[in-house]
Amino acid sequence: MRKFFWLLLFPVFVQAQTMSVSTDSLMKHINYLASPTLNGRLPGSSGYFTAVQYSVDFFHNHGLHRAGDFKMRQMVPIETNVIDSARVLIGTEGNMTELKAGVDFSVRGYSGSGDVTAPVVFCGYGYDSTIYSDYKGVDVKGKIVLVFKSNPPFLKGLPEYSIRRTADAAYRHGAKAVIFVSQPNQKEPQKPIGSMMHGTGLFHQDMPQIQVTVEKAGVLMQNSGFTLSRLQTSIDSLQAPASVAAGCNASVFVKAGYNPKGHTTNVVAMLPGHDPVLKDEYVILGGHLDHVGSIGKQIYYPGANDNASGSAAVLELARVFSADSSSLKRSIIFVLFGSEEKGLEGSTFFVNNLPVPKEKIVAVFNLDCIGCGDSLMAGNGKSCPALWDTAAEVAKLNNWPMSQRTWEGGGADLTPFFKAGIPGLYFVNTHAHQNLHLPSDSPEIINQEQYTRMVKWVEAVTRKLVM
Ligand SMILES: [Zn+2]
Repeated sequence: MRKFFWLLLFPVFVQAQTMSVSTDSLMKHINYLASPTLNGRLPGSSGYFTAVQYSVDFFHNHGLHRAGDFKMRQMVPIETNVIDSARVLIGTEGNMTELKAGVDFSVRGYSGSGDVTAPVVFCGYGYDSTIYSDYKGVDVKGKIVLVFKSNPPFLKGLPEYSIRRTADAAYRHGAKAVIFVSQPNQKEPQKPIGSMMHGTGLFHQDMPQIQVTVEKAGVLMQNSGFTLSRLQTSIDSLQAPASVAAGCNASVFVKAGYNPKGHTTNVVAMLPGHDPVLKDEYVILGGHLDHVGSIGKQIYYPGANDNASGSAAVLELARVFSADSSSLKRSIIFVLFGSEEKGLEGSTFFVNNLPVPKEKIVAVFNLDCIGCGDSLMAGNGKSCPALWDTAAEVAKLNNWPMSQRTWEGGGADLTPFFKAGIPGLYFVNTHAHQNLHLPSDSPEIINQEQYTRMVKWVEAVTRKLVM
């Protein structure tokens, strides 16, 4: 009898195992997506398209279909820029020191190419307009400018900060390269990050653009008679430029491959529901697959948390729900967005080219940077209180620590959905961004317990909507 009882239980037990979220499966995806083979998953690069192939194969292997008339690969036109190599030295003639890629400096994602050795001129915020100009009274022709990576905080009503506009101002004054640095008087000055955010403005293919640490910018300024901190205090308090020759040289070499007519790819797959009416309603689970690439072969940005963690969760949830697909009432669409880091281009393109009618989308759950941090959090709850209440209820039922903080307006890849009037939540942990866009965002930093809990949370909230 006892033996028979166990035999009866066994198949149920096996089925339950295959259907639950597995830390091992999640970490397997992260380890692959964050590996050197994929080289930072830069949109338009072979590493990114390898990640796409991996995801498409995974969806196919789990019986997922295309959504609507779409192919699984949705082509998204974007300008692409691949950093092929870079070298930076600073010092005085005959006494130059090479900086370490990824530690002392990073290359801006939309840097141009060039090989410049020239004196450095500090130009404040690098801002140039008729009412205020950091270029007033200094000659930067043929030189390299060092600028803070921010708008002047005392000028109100300026458009959002733009790397391109700042580089363009330097270019128009004849500078040959730009070195960005975080403001030294900030509480936590930013380290040199890998970043594709570049804003609006002209693009100069022959102008290298890098970011250095506050410390190395300090070395650049050591012969000037000023410290960067003192210069910032002076500019901010007097609201007047304090541009000055650094008394130091820099040698900046960047080789980049720019393609104004490049493309990236969203990956879109579906598990159809079976209820005669509800099958035409959809829950979308999405995360961005791209990251910020590499500095040639010197270093790459693994993006384990940002956002291999969210992509791996989308893949894992496809596996989990595919094992249970006959019980689905509503349909689930799984999307990996092909370009978030440059400014939400993958999700924006998807929203503008939806495979299903907009009004049939019940909820979008965006997963971004869910591998680190300490408490569950769901953004956009102020725009969608009913969804947020469901998520809070699930967390409470399971005794999972959940932050009560939420907001409105979407956030990250949820923003274009929000703007289109599509409901959704943006899942992210609190304190999730410690290694953001640094070479240290590698699989070792993933908090596996918190990460698995987060994916189980998304699974449970999704179940409430599709089962
Ligand atoms: Zn990012």
